[in-house]
Amino acid sequence: MNVTLVAGGAGFLGSHMCRRLLGLGDVVICVDNLSTGRRINVADMADHERFHQADHDITVALEHNGSLTALLDAHPLSRVCNFASPASPFAYAAMPVETLMVGSIGMRHLLDLALRTGARLLQSSTSEVYGDPDIHPQPETYWGRVNPIGPRSMYDESKRFAEALCAVYERTHGVDLRMARIFNTYGPAMSPEDGRVVTNFIGQALRGDDITIFGDGSQTRSFCYVDDEISGFIALLESDVRGPVNIGNPVEFTMIELAHLVLELTGSQSSLVYRALPGDDPTQRCPDIGRAQRELGWTPQVALAQGLERTIAWFRTLPQFAGLSAPRR
Ligand code: NAD
Ligand code: UDP
Repeated sequence: MNVTLVAGGAGFLGSHMCRRLLGLGDVVICVDNLSTGRRINVADMADHERFHQADHDITVALEHNGSLTALLDAHPLSRVCNFASPASPFAYAAMPVETLMVGSIGMRHLLDLALRTGARLLQSSTSEVYGDPDIHPQPETYWGRVNPIGPRSMYDESKRFAEALCAVYERTHGVDLRMARIFNTYGPAMSPEDGRVVTNFIGQALRGDDITIFGDGSQTRSFCYVDDEISGFIALLESDVRGPVNIGNPVEFTMIELAHLVLELTGSQSSLVYRALPGDDPTQRCPDIGRAQRELGWTPQVALAQGLERTIAWFRTLPQFAGLSAPRR
């Protein structure tokens, strides 16, 4: 039986990963400092006999947490999945130093844990390592175009440093590493207030507020539904594939197209309003997923409209959106 530690397990992706791993029969140890994660994301698993939680900041050595140490002594680790990091532009701008520390010090603590225990480590890297790319779609071989001191640099460089540290531990210490480069992922359990485009647009549409388009809305993103994304992580975790693998949905949309789709699916009458484009906002982003398709046999299955419908249905279950006027389809 695998014992898997999920760092950032109370966050959006981490909580879905914990649930999927429990379903696969793993013992799951969820480690989170709840900085952007929420206990409610894992509430349904709290009483499961194979699910354990430790409140811990991974920038602090794991040995300093007595209950976590006891858990690790009782359950020898086979895998570590790292999702711990502020992830939305809103969150990492609010926690810039914490973001740099979790990708460096926190990453090192998890790599040392993997080295000590012989556990396989899955790192959740990001399309942001490509920055504002000048190659489309982006293959894993592209080195990126990142502003090292710009307004997004605390996140981009933290993730790039984390990749570099992982590569060193893999090369020099033989840590058994897997590296997912995640492209924009959405779905139930996102924090509705995280400031990301999908949550902003759905929340605004349901409340009847203006939909805020940053810039002229011609910038693109490629959105992957969370169930597909998690299937990609599992395929990678259980594979022998080394080096970074893009995991994302390659169908690209402009933010204007996304806004119109959300309006249609919510039946909202909200208007589009235009706001300043944040600094260094990438103009185009689309994964080349050839490697994942060839080597993992993985391809996303859920179209954006279908995934948005599920996400909107989940939003409607939240107390703050219950009874709002935007009609159901
Ligand atoms: P999230 O904010 O919902 O989850 C991150 C989790 O990490 C939260 O539960 C938070 O409390 C926890 N965390 C943060 N710092 C920590 C620390 N020092 N110690 C312990 N826990 C800590 O974000 P998410 O969207 O689920 O993203 C998860 C991971 O995937 C992140 O590493 C992010 O960079 C990466 N990623 C996500 C996306 C996406 O579209 N969702 C895209 C690219 C990369
Ligand atoms: N965006 C927008 N309106 C919003 C929030 C975001 O137009 O209310 C844009 C943002 O400028 C970016 C894209 O949507 O071009 C995706 O933003 P998000 O924060 O979701 O993720 P990113 O890919 O930039 O990390």
